[in-house]
Amino acid sequence: MARSVLVTGGNRGIGLAIARDLAERGHRVAVTHRGSGAPEGLFGVRADVTDAEQVDAAFKQVEEHQGPVEVLVSNAGITDDTLLMRMSEEQFTRVVDANLTGAYRVAKRASRGMLRAKWGRFVFISSVVGLLGSAGQVNYAASKAGLVGLARSLARELGSRNITANVVAPGFVATDMTDALGEDRKKEILAQVPSGRYGEPAEIASAVRFLASDEAGYVNGAVLPVDGGLGMGH
Ligand code: NDP
Repeated sequence: MARSVLVTGGNRGIGLAIARDLAERGHRVAVTHRGSGAPEGLFGVRADVTDAEQVDAAFKQVEEHQGPVEVLVSNAGITDDTLLMRMSEEQFTRVVDANLTGAYRVAKRASRGMLRAKWGRFVFISSVVGLLGSAGQVNYAASKAGLVGLARSLARELGSRNITANVVAPGFVATDMTDALGEDRKKEILAQVPSGRYGEPAEIASAVRFLASDEAGYVNGAVLPVDGGLGMGH
C-alpha cells in the first residue's frame, strides 16, 4: 500500500537513498532540508529538527501535500568528534539535541496522525557505535544509544495501535559524514568489518523499506544492524 512518508535529512546521503528507494516503490515521499532545496522528484520541506516550530510547520506542509505522515524515518544527524577531555558541554548538547531530541520532536509530531489512523511506522537511524561505543564520539554514541530506548518505549506506548517503532543501526557508509574522517581512521574501521567493505546508502534503504512495510507489522522495538558484521554480538 502506498504511504505518506517523511524522511528527515532526506536531501542527501543515507536519507536521500532511503527517500528515493521508497519513492521508487510508489510511496508519497517528503524530505526535510535546511535550505538546500528538495532533490529532484521529491517533495521538500524546510526544517531544522532542533526547532519544534519548524518541525510543526514542515509537518503541516507535508500533511497538505500528501496526507498525514504514516511512515516517519528519523535520519537527520550530525557528528562533532573529539575526546571527552576536550569535549565542551556545547559540543555534547548540540549533537544530542540534533540526533536524539530532534528524533523526539519529529516522533511526537508524527504520532498524532498515526494514532488517528491507527497505523504507523517509526524508523530511527541510529549507528553501530550506539552500542559498540567509539573513542572520540561520546556525544554521538550517547545520542545514538538513546534512540534505542526512545524507539522501544514508543513501541510499548503505541504498539497496540498498529504502530511500530524500530531502529536501523548502520555501520560505516561512505557519505559526506564519513568523508570527514582521516584515511588512517577509515582503514582502522575497515579492518574491523567482517564483510571487508563499506556499506552503500542503498543497503541501509533496503532495511528501512522492510521495516516501513505492511509485512513488517509484527517487528517492533527491534534494532536491525546493517553493518557488514562490525557490531556482531550486540
Ligand atoms: P550526512 O552528513 O551525509 O547527512 C546528514 C543529513 O542530516 C543531512 O541531510 C543534513 O541536512 C541532516 N541534518 C543534520 N542536522 C540536521 C538538523 N538539525 N535538522 C535537520 N536536518 C539535519 O550523513 P549521513 O547520510 O551519513 O547520515 C545519515 C544518518 O545516518 C545520520 O543520523 C547518521 O548519524 C547515521 N549514520 C551514518 C553512518 C555513516 O557511516 N555514514 C553510520 C551510522 C549512522 P543538511 O544537508 O541541511 O546539512
